[in-house]
Amino acid sequence: MIIHTIDLEFQGVRKVIAAFLVPHRDGVVLVESGPQTTWEALKRGLAKHGYAPCDVTDVLLTHVHFDHAGAAWSLAKDGSNVHVHPKGYKHLADPSRLWNSAARIYGDEGMKLLWGAMQPIDESKLHMAEEGQVLKIGGLEFIAHHSPGHAKHHIAWQCGDALFTGDVGGVCINNGPMEPPCPPPDIDAIAWHASIDKLSRLTDVKRLFLTHFGEQQGELADHWRTLGSKLDTWIEFIEANSEMEHHQLIEHFTDFVTEERKKYTGAESCYAFANPAEMSVTGIKRWLHQKEEVAKT
Ligand SMILES: [Zn+2]
Repeated sequence: MIIHTIDLEFQGVRKVIAAFLVPHRDGVVLVESGPQTTWEALKRGLAKHGYAPCDVTDVLLTHVHFDHAGAAWSLAKDGSNVHVHPKGYKHLADPSRLWNSAARIYGDEGMKLLWGAMQPIDESKLHMAEEGQVLKIGGLEFIAHHSPGHAKHHIAWQCGDALFTGDVGGVCINNGPMEPPCPPPDIDAIAWHASIDKLSRLTDVKRLFLTHFGEQQGELADHWRTLGSKLDTWIEFIEANSEMEHHQLIEHFTDFVTEERKKYTGAESCYAFANPAEMSVTGIKRWLHQKEEVAKT
């Protein structure tokens, strides 16, 4: 099985968002679509390997965040089947709620600049992937591993020895620091640790494909262990500084993560786009608050 990594050159920066192209007997599978703003880069990436959007038989989404799924509707218009977690299905059939909640964070201008348009996907082209479901596509088999923690609607897709980890497998760019992306609203560290445990036990997996960014080989147990401990470190940091004003905490946390990112030449701006520090402050604070509320009841 061949896997091509397409660099979607998000905001003109390399190695921020990837889509993965898997050729098969009857066309190609695309894991992740990227946002609509990188549609031209996606088409260029497909063309580089001799394909056009109409050759994409199936789009496998890890979750419905804009940077992973924003352009899936365009591929569906060109004939692709789109496969998504049951909890993400309604957001693609009618993206208005997803759009409005993101617009509250980014504003209308920010939405246009970062993500671009998102239109509904016709339900004849949209399919739910249940836990453990195997999709047989052109002689290949893709297994859906439900894996919450980063998002409730997250799937890690396995094909042979390859696992497409979306965001549950962390962000790691140019061999830089391993980071857990923690944006609101779904962060759940307990669920994330359970997903890490589950995915790290897939003994036939030898290669990880991170949407942010690219193939990770070598000792995969180390990858998962490092990710889990970084998640704990970040949560402890936010918890220990929870009395700070929100904007101060953002500054403090940004300094904390930037210091580590700076050690790796060239990776800092990629990380700032792929995993904005302020998003993780908000996401982790939200989870800590929810946990407190549950403890009270
Ligand atoms: Zn995400």
